[in-house]
Amino acid sequence: MYLFQGVSALHAHLRTERVNNRTVGFVPTMGALHEGHLALVRQSLAENQVTVCSIFVNPTQFNDPADLEKYPRTPGKDLELLASVGCNVAFLPSVDEVYPPNLAPMPDIDLAGLDQGLEGAHRPGHFAGVVQVVQRFLDLVEPHRLYLGQKDFQQQLIIRHVVRGLEPPLKVVTVPTVREPNGLAMSSRNVRLPAEVREQAGLIHQTLEQAKDKLETEAPRAVEAWALRHLDQAPFRPEYFCFVDGTNLQPVHQSGMHDTVVACTAVWAGEVRLIDNLLVKGTLD
Ligand code: AMP
Repeated sequence: MYLFQGVSALHAHLRTERVNNRTVGFVPTMGALHEGHLALVRQSLAENQVTVCSIFVNPTQFNDPADLEKYPRTPGKDLELLASVGCNVAFLPSVDEVYPPNLAPMPDIDLAGLDQGLEGAHRPGHFAGVVQVVQRFLDLVEPHRLYLGQKDFQQQLIIRHVVRGLEPPLKVVTVPTVREPNGLAMSSRNVRLPAEVREQAGLIHQTLEQAKDKLETEAPRAVEAWALRHLDQAPFRPEYFCFVDGTNLQPVHQSGMHDTVVACTAVWAGEVRLIDNLLVKGTLD
C-alpha cells in the first residue's frame, strides 16, 4: 500500500495510474476506521483497479470545537486495517496541505435546500465544510467512483447533488450501513460510549425498525411523536426523528404520496451524538 501525506506526491502517483487507464475508486473518511469504512473500501476494491482511502479530520465541518478535539484519531491502526483489506493508496494529509493559504476559493454551489433540515438544522455550517472538503479531494484524486455510506444519509444526498453534471462524470456509490450485533450503526464516535451505553444504544435501530412497522397503519406525525417518546429514556435524549422523502429530504405528511421514505434520527447518548436512518419505503438510487 502506498502512503501519501503530500498533495503533489499523491497527484503524481494517480496521474501515472490514470495514464495506464486504471479506474480509481475513492473512499473519503475521517479515520478511526471500523467495519463500516472497510465495507466502502472493499466495494471500491471490487469495482476499481485502484482504491484511494483518505483519512482527514476536516476541521471546517465541525461546528463544535469540543467535538473536533475529542474526535478519535488512530492513524497507526487505520493504516494496518487498510493494508489488511488490500487498499492501494492511503492519503493522510495535514490541514495545511488540504487548505494552503493560496488555495482558490471553491465555487459556491446551490444545495437546493438539502442542507437546511435534519443535520443542517442542528449543526450550522457543517455541510458547507463537508462540501468544501469533498470538492477539494475530488480535485486532487479525480476518481471514477466515489464511495459513501448510507449511515450519513443527508451527506450522501448532498454530495450526489454537488457532483451531478461533473465532466467527466463521477459515479457515486452508496453503501448500506454496517451495524454492531445489537443494531447500533458503526461509528467512530462509538468508542466514546461506555460499554453499557453502547449495548443499550441498540435502542436507536430498534426504534427505527418499529417506526417502519407502525408507519404501515399510522400517520407519520403520530409515529414520529411515538419514536421521540420511545427514545427519550436515560441516558438517551433524542434531538430529532423525522420521516423524509429520500430524494429531496422534504417532510413526509402522508407516506402514500412519496416513492422513497427514510426515517432519520439524531440521539444524544450522554455527551456523544449519534445519527442513524432506515429506508422505510422504496429503494435508494
Ligand atoms: P466518517 O469517517 O465518519 O466521515 O465516514 C466516512 C465514510 O464512511 C462516510 O461516507 C460514512 O457515511 C461512511 N460510514 C461511516 N460509518 C458507516 C457505517 N456504519 N456503515 C457504512 N458506512 C459508514
